[in-house]
Amino acid sequence: MPSDLARDRPVRRKGSVEIDAVPARAGWSADVHRTLWHDTPHEVALVPARRDETHDETLDETHDETRRVAFDSVPRGCLGEGMTQRARVEWAPEMLRYDFGTGHPMAPDRLALTIGLADALGLLEHVDLVRAGIADDALLTTVHEPAYVAAVRRAADEGVRDEARGLGTADDPLFPSMHEASARVVQGTVDAALAVWRGECEHAVNITGGMHHAMPGAASGFCVYNDVAVAIHALLAQGAERVAYVDLDAHHGDGVQAVFWDDPRVLTVSVHESGRALFPGTGDPHETGGSAAPGSAVNLPLPSGAGDVGWLRAVDAVVPAVLRAFEPQVLVTQHGCDAHGLDPLSNLRVSVDAQRLAAQRLHDLAHELTGGRWLATGGGGYAIIDVVPRAWTHLIAVAAHRPIDPATPVPEAWRERVAAEYGREGPRLMTDGATPTFRSWGSGFDPSDDVDRAIRATRAMSFPLLGLDVDHD
Ligand SMILES: [Zn+2]
Ligand SMILES: [Zn+2]
Repeated sequence: MPSDLARDRPVRRKGSVEIDAVPARAGWSADVHRTLWHDTPHEVALVPARRDETHDETLDETHDETRRVAFDSVPRGCLGEGMTQRARVEWAPEMLRYDFGTGHPMAPDRLALTIGLADALGLLEHVDLVRAGIADDALLTTVHEPAYVAAVRRAADEGVRDEARGLGTADDPLFPSMHEASARVVQGTVDAALAVWRGECEHAVNITGGMHHAMPGAASGFCVYNDVAVAIHALLAQGAERVAYVDLDAHHGDGVQAVFWDDPRVLTVSVHESGRALFPGTGDPHETGGSAAPGSAVNLPLPSGAGDVGWLRAVDAVVPAVLRAFEPQVLVTQHGCDAHGLDPLSNLRVSVDAQRLAAQRLHDLAHELTGGRWLATGGGGYAIIDVVPRAWTHLIAVAAHRPIDPATPVPEAWRERVAAEYGREGPRLMTDGATPTFRSWGSGFDPSDDVDRAIRATRAMSFPLLGLDVDHD
């Protein structure tokens, strides 16, 4: 990606919004560690489930049914009762060591709270939890420059700052386990991707992943190593010819786009708040891929303030069409949930319900286009009590074919722990009370509407390069 894309943009630092919404952390992490890894039977489920061939027909039948369900219908699971295809979820308490320190928005508590909520809802009994190791240098350097990996090690081991490589900045302060914790996130996403590719599981989730800002030679925007890019590279190395990446984080997925900018085997699609208002400043519709890969990048920057109606309309007007045109063999998605109205780092207003619907939709697209091969990651998300746990629990539930009814109460045990650890009340329901609705693009285009103009600009720049009609679906 040309380095001058971000020039003249005002936003250079991701964490520049005043953070007062991040509570002090107490003993939650250790508690989750104990609960999930020592006192419960979950640790016996560390080996990924083998694909059960006897379920294939059932799957196909059920998914045909799913394809007839419109995006704007009531969301529901694609599989009927009794479906046993288990999702793989990368989790280990060591993931909580990815910790920039007190006061930083990327508090590892958000992961602990998510796993805790999923556990309280009984969801973890229906997934295979897998503990990732630490990616070695050979794997990291498939994407990252060796000198950068060495710099991260020096930063972690000796506290040596390297601001030219983004290490020791306000967004990415140093911490002792910086290399190890970041490399573990990478290994988790790579393992999940390869498990999906090999058919060991249909869907896999790494809520600790989605570090989409990390560049080959620099940390950026709370991201040290780009687990997504390394995983996509690993899929290509395994013989994948077309990998699609869809990024729903409020921030542009600039690092993943940069890595595959000139690679026609990878389609990167990012729906985000406009770079004119938000870090990292890139992600304009005219960014459509390098000269060797025209049309391989799709960018949909939305105006600040866009909510469910606009965000879902945007996702629906661009993502399914470009994915169908590209015909991916595997779908990788990033579910940063910082587009939520309560998130302190973005200005979008997307509900948990809309994010759940989008996850459901991407899941359905995987069954339509990739034979179900779907790897979902987390990403941003800084409303660590009110949003992240619910958004990603819904994501895990969708991947596990056990979707959670939005009206489900948040378990009291979880709420009591929130109250005890943070001295405040947690959300009462798995819904924001929103009923996500939107108009499809086919119903007409309003040139006076900011969101519609944004969608139109993206379609105008990207659709012809993918052989699609700008105006009609
Ligand atoms: Zn499925
Ligand atoms: Zn983000």
